Amino acid sequence: MSRIIAGAAINGAYGHVEKAEQALEVALGSHGDDTTVEFPNTGYYLPVIYGTTGEEVTKLNHCRKVLAMARDLLPPKVTDSHWVPYLGHTLDAGMATLWAEEVFEALKYLDGACPYTMTPSPTDDNLWLGAADDVILRERGIEFVDGTAPGFAAIVGAAPDNQTAVNIARELQESSMYVFMCSESGGKRFAEQLAEENVQMGWETRLVPFGPDTSSAVFALGFAARAALSFGGVAPGDYRRMLLYNKFRVFAFVLAMGPVDDEKYATAAGAINYGFPTLADTDIPSILPTGVCLYEHVVPNVKYDEMVARAFQVRGLKVVPSSVDIPTRFGPAFEGERVRKDDMQIEAGNPKVGSPCFEFCRMRPSEEVEDGKIEVVGPEIDEFEPGACIPLGTLVEVSGAKMQPDFEPILERQVHTYLNCAQGIFHMGQRDIAWVRYSKEGYEAGLRLHHIGAILHARLREEYSAIVDKCQVTIYTRVEDVERVLAEARAAYAERDERLAGMTDESVDTFYSCLLCQSFAPNHVCVITPEHPGLCGAYNWLDGRAAYEIMPTGPNQPVPKGAVIDETLGQWDEVNKFVFEKSNRTLERFSAYSMLTDPMTSCGCFECISAILPMANGIMIVNREYVDMTPCGMKFSTLAGSVGGGQQTPGFIGHSKLYISSRKFISADGGFRRIVWMPKQLKEEVRERLDALAAAEGEEGFVDKIADESIAQTEEEVMEHLATVGHPAATMDPLF
Ligand code: SF4
Ligand code: ZN
Repeated sequence: MSRIIAGAAINGAYGHVEKAEQALEVALGSHGDDTTVEFPNTGYYLPVIYGTTGEEVTKLNHCRKVLAMARDLLPPKVTDSHWVPYLGHTLDAGMATLWAEEVFEALKYLDGACPYTMTPSPTDDNLWLGAADDVILRERGIEFVDGTAPGFAAIVGAAPDNQTAVNIARELQESSMYVFMCSESGGKRFAEQLAEENVQMGWETRLVPFGPDTSSAVFALGFAARAALSFGGVAPGDYRRMLLYNKFRVFAFVLAMGPVDDEKYATAAGAINYGFPTLADTDIPSILPTGVCLYEHVVPNVKYDEMVARAFQVRGLKVVPSSVDIPTRFGPAFEGERVRKDDMQIEAGNPKVGSPCFEFCRMRPSEEVEDGKIEVVGPEIDEFEPGACIPLGTLVEVSGAKMQPDFEPILERQVHTYLNCAQGIFHMGQRDIAWVRYSKEGYEAGLRLHHIGAILHARLREEYSAIVDKCQVTIYTRVEDVERVLAEARAAYAERDERLAGMTDESVDTFYSCLLCQSFAPNHVCVITPEHPGLCGAYNWLDGRAAYEIMPTGPNQPVPKGAVIDETLGQWDEVNKFVFEKSNRTLERFSAYSMLTDPMTSCGCFECISAILPMANGIMIVNREYVDMTPCGMKFSTLAGSVGGGQQTPGFIGHSKLYISSRKFISADGGFRRIVWMPKQLKEEVRERLDALAAAEGEEGFVDKIADESIAQTEEEVMEHLATVGHPAATMDPLF
């Protein structure tokens, strides 16, 4: 352990604690002890403090206690006569620093006078996002669990110039890492450098500007703490397991860019507690022996073009290079990238312009497919006026011994994901309502229409190798060709829809399981039926079947129904047996159609939660995006905390948005007629399908009878509304 680093980190820690104490005194001078202290919309309080100590900080006076603990933890200052043992002392200084920083940041939120946007991406006049709320945590945290995101890089300071900043950010994005940015060096900040170069930032591009100060680094560690608490099943206060979870499960490191002052040393010491090493571009003393980190703790003098590779090496992370050969970068971090009108070279399918644009995947006999053949029929981008809206048809033809027509839509749906992963291409929609944009930047880098073929061929052959033996792609850009092939595509779309619509739970003898979420909710089992999609909304019955064909030993297994136990509840003997086995022998019975009797378990990534409103004789549904209070007295985040984790919770279920308009939606408990409250936005989202279902059952205009936040905030108000509009729930049999 370097004496210089230990001394600097310990000094820095004293500084952080003093700063937080002073800020607290000021806050207490103008606010009462009982003033609320919180990061908005989270069930994890101040998460580093909650995770490491179990303290639930909700009031200003709780901060006193935490800062007193921080002060107690401060090691003696380093003097000439005091030499050993520095590592333990440095780590303590680091932890005291994190607590102090978290209090300091939380005080910024007092009275709603918050310096952060609290949105997923920067606003026009504010770059800094502040603490992520629970909606973002669940959306993004799951990527850390399933490996879509290997981890994050916390960048503290600024690059020597803007281009270096852009290069490092792009390289990290291409490796699918999240980039958390904070602090400054020499008056410059990394996120500001990216903003000056028009790089799109926000959670959707994985470039997250947390805050301008060094203390904002605590948001990154808070995110990691919450990942451990919510996905790792770590109990609050079990600091050892929390830190170990991060050390082994979250691949993170700190890039200290520019001179490192005492404040930054102290914060880096905090990160070392988590097992996150620091790499610096300056000549600071190194700490090589491994202990808390898997590898070195501090690595100095790293060159900019080697920084990312070196960090990966130090943290022991292997990156698989992308198989997609295009002139721009490719990876999930580019999925959220938008291409604005002014930055656009060409587009297709803009609904306001109305030129045709579609994508269509079909299977073909093997002899009709030439693997890797990519053809542009009609002019390439260069031959169109910049800014033009062009006709565009993408025809993907595949063959394979195990390919089936039912897999066509599954492959076709990937077009959206794959194209968006290319830097410089924006894609929205599917089928014949697709909308594609190429950016000028991408065009100038050499991106052309034939690259659509290259991307789709490479990714489909790679990810779907079990069913796709050969793949060819034809791109049409003349209106007469596009319309001709589009007519064929539309006929196929219609046929598919009919096939799916005709499929009921009764029409099949096998369901599919999904156990993907067991990585964080160990007893959770999704049973996916034709009329009950997985509760994350991402998997339907056909997907389950295709996934099983593609990977027979994977998380999606066939579940034969077996003999009927109870038709109304949706219980079958073989399904129960399967669920019992796969839930680690914890769940003996499972009802597909009831939220009261043996309901399905809820993991953590459900799109919505339904909860009973006993007095109203009905249920309310709240979606993840809705952050305000609901009539059951709990916000989504609180409900999710109590319902999730793989438990059966009678009276509550997590489910997808699509399930709401299913004929089988809690049909054992009275079905859709029980729905008495939903947020307005969710109502609009499901209106068309739900009204169609209701009309077919003789309930015209049903959606308008459902209360929303503009009508009712409490269960009493919901009841008044039901009486006024003549809602069917009012006259149904009692719920229980
Ligand atoms: Fe699979 Fe269900 Fe998790 Fe979705 S919620 S990933 S369907 S287990
Ligand atoms: Zn889940």
